[in-house]
Amino acid sequence: MILIVCTSLACRTVVRVMAADLLQAEMLVGPSSSYWPNKFTCPTCDGAATGLLEGEVDPNTFKGFNVLELEAEEMFRSLQGLGLPEEQDCRLEVLHEVMRQKIKLIGGHSIGGTKRFCLEWLEMEDGTKLYFGASSHGATIYRIVNNTSYTNRVLQEGKQDVG
Ligand SMILES: [Zn+2]
Repeated sequence: MILIVCTSLACRTVVRVMAADLLQAEMLVGPSSSYWPNKFTCPTCDGAATGLLEGEVDPNTFKGFNVLELEAEEMFRSLQGLGLPEEQDCRLEVLHEVMRQKIKLIGGHSIGGTKRFCLEWLEMEDGTKLYFGASSHGATIYRIVNNTSYTNRVLQEGKQDVG
């Protein structure tokens, strides 16, 4: 079993990588990947994290840690900046909920020699962050951090409509 451990003592996150295909998991986020052993990013705090094999450490080491169980592919997507699975729900219903608030911060950069701005992310009043990517038809929101409550609310509302 591959473990990815956050180096921040304030965060205390450990990811247990679930692997149906061990060889593929090792290529994506294991000893055969370019992240091994210490080029990982923690999915919770975006800080540095280290890869370990479960047999190499005393299981008691991680008592009191926040344990995330992710598929190898989900961990890989997180390392690519796409966030955790629940952060990838960027449907219109979720956006409606998030966008009810005021914008607190705008992330990105000015485009030299123009009056244009390249928008990378927006941070809302409650700290929710929306990440933008380019597509041929407009900006695509591909990640919403801290959106679990919104997703849940949308799911609840959906259930109430049915009931
Ligand atoms: Zn962390």
